[in-house]
Amino acid sequence: MPLIVQKYGGSSLATSDHIRRVAGTIAATKREGHQVVVVVSAMRGETDRLIALAAELNSDTPARELDALLATGEQASAALMAMALASLGLRARSYAGLQLPLRTDANHTRARIIDLPTGVLRRDLDQNIIPVVAGFQGVNGNGDITTLGRGGSDTTAVALAAALQADVCEIYTDVDGVYTADPNICPSARHLSKVTYEEMLEMSGLGAKVLQIRSVELAQKYRVPLLVKSSYGSDKCTWIVEEAESMESAVVSGITLDRGVAKLSVIHVPDRPGIAYQILAPLAEAQINVDMVIQNASIEGYTDFTFTLSKEDLPKARPLLDQVAEEIGAREIRADDSIAKVSAIGIGVKNHPGVAARMFKALADENINIQMISTSEIRISCIIESKYGELAVRVLHDAFDLQQR
Ligand code: ASP
Ligand code: MG
Repeated sequence: MPLIVQKYGGSSLATSDHIRRVAGTIAATKREGHQVVVVVSAMRGETDRLIALAAELNSDTPARELDALLATGEQASAALMAMALASLGLRARSYAGLQLPLRTDANHTRARIIDLPTGVLRRDLDQNIIPVVAGFQGVNGNGDITTLGRGGSDTTAVALAAALQADVCEIYTDVDGVYTADPNICPSARHLSKVTYEEMLEMSGLGAKVLQIRSVELAQKYRVPLLVKSSYGSDKCTWIVEEAESMESAVVSGITLDRGVAKLSVIHVPDRPGIAYQILAPLAEAQINVDMVIQNASIEGYTDFTFTLSKEDLPKARPLLDQVAEEIGAREIRADDSIAKVSAIGIGVKNHPGVAARMFKALADENINIQMISTSEIRISCIIESKYGELAVRVLHDAFDLQQR
């Protein structure tokens, strides 16, 4: 019997009516002759509500307690879903992460999964019971509750699908899949019926918020076919699969916009071996990720060193860099958080020369200045002034002929 893991996001679980409707979908899947394992997120807004509550009591919330608190959101959803299924005459049992147990490392609020035994779930499936697993959570080596980072229920679902060797992992969300651009920004954005894991990884990492990036990494690693579907009954959906299965022939499959970036420049640094290390090491120590890095050609022994990082990390990075500037004798530090990263993504970028030129020309035609450029095998990204972000998305969407046909 085919086994399906179905994950329902918070927007599909906003009220008891929503939960009842989802229970109906699960019942229908069972009737079609599938085995089903359900993974749920917290009800809509619940995680944010709990975070705000915690902040009212402690501005520096202890991570262990935050995880203990946040995990309750998913636990409530799981119990409620099991009740709703029972009221339809189906046998169902809810599970918190620690009941499986889904084991993670010790990193509170962004734990990684180490081990996921399936004994409990197999036993239920054999007895025709639907397991309903609380997403986003696990337990560390000390027996403490951990969480997997925002959006982590996606990762729970894919990890379960991999461990159970499910035929497919269906992610039910408030959109009906992946588009060539954010339809709120670009009205002519086109729905994509298939994208590759690689493309989705770039899209998740660059501001397309459909899936937690870690879940796509896991799906790729264990070759779990992922299906993104709307919980509001649209008949469209997007498959995330291996390259060979992808039928999209476009050079570029999508344009993304990331506003969550900031730029730091160290001006007039003596150009000598070890400078990049001296500048970036304190950031790495503070767990701050650096993305694009540019060092200018040096003039008379001096150079400028610029990099981007997440906007959230800017307040933490700035003082560290001020200190470094003093140590290495740099003239000044400049911070800029009014930037955005616009990217063109597609497996065709590998084999089609000229994609970059087309992108730069399209931006130039609109007088949008490119501040930094970076490329990967399947992506070209430009840093631009943030006020031109949406315009850039639309211009590039046209330049690569992505509009609806
Ligand atoms: N409830 C958690 C969040 O809001 C996890 C999830 O929804 O996947 O981030
Ligand atoms: Mg989500």
